[in-house]
Amino acid sequence: MKDRANFEGQLIYLKQNYSIVSIDQLNHFFYKNTKLPKKPLLITFDDGDISVYENALPLLKKHNLPATLFVVTDLINSHKPFWWDEIEYYLGKEDGNKKVWEIKNWKNKQREDFLTKLRSNLDKPAMKYPQLTTSQLKEMQDSGITIANHSHTHPLFNKCTREELEEELTKSKEQLQDSNFSADIFAYPNGNHSELSEAVLKSKNIKMALLFDHKINKNQVHPLQISRLAANDTTPLWKLKLILSGWHTKVLPITRTLGKLRK
Ligand SMILES: [Zn+2]
Repeated sequence: MKDRANFEGQLIYLKQNYSIVSIDQLNHFFYKNTKLPKKPLLITFDDGDISVYENALPLLKKHNLPATLFVVTDLINSHKPFWWDEIEYYLGKEDGNKKVWEIKNWKNKQREDFLTKLRSNLDKPAMKYPQLTTSQLKEMQDSGITIANHSHTHPLFNKCTREELEEELTKSKEQLQDSNFSADIFAYPNGNHSELSEAVLKSKNIKMALLFDHKINKNQVHPLQISRLAANDTTPLWKLKLILSGWHTKVLPITRTLGKLRK
């Protein structure tokens, strides 16, 4: 995230219109039967990009807002890029982006093999990208940001075998527990959920799991199927309001249809 001014406007709007809750409060709601305040809203960030530390953290601190950051443990303390950025690096922005969408339908092994093949391209030096370090994450945790689990390598969980899922969770949990982070709170990479992945999550004692389904949670929420709305730092306030109203997904297909008619 880079648009600090817009992001601060979003935070101010959220703070004025919602009760910003921490993931601990949500945990107590599910497992200790406590009540949530009216209009509860949880702020989350996926992937753990370094820009969250650089740009979001100072503003979250300034406005005294809790948030949760879901990190990809294999990337922490490394210069390994996110896999989708790496594909764009090798194939170019447009073709790479198309490929990423295509790959989201592939079996995980096929995705891994494709990346290995790309990396063997000797014409291009390996892509490097600075990732968050454990000490930066600890600093964030001390400022009220919960550091939680977004898997070990960010595969798509509905495309993984049981063995792959177990390995992802064993490794990510171990690494997060070592640093006293919230290993049992999980966000599905890309939001992709399946019956098998939920069963493995349960077997690994994951207490809460968040989707990426652009839906608002109803009164009855399953702790392993928590819905989320999506926005980013550049989302204008009018659009954020529309997203928060839940009308966004209903309006979007209509505007798409209108767009088609105009052509
Ligand atoms: Zn992600």
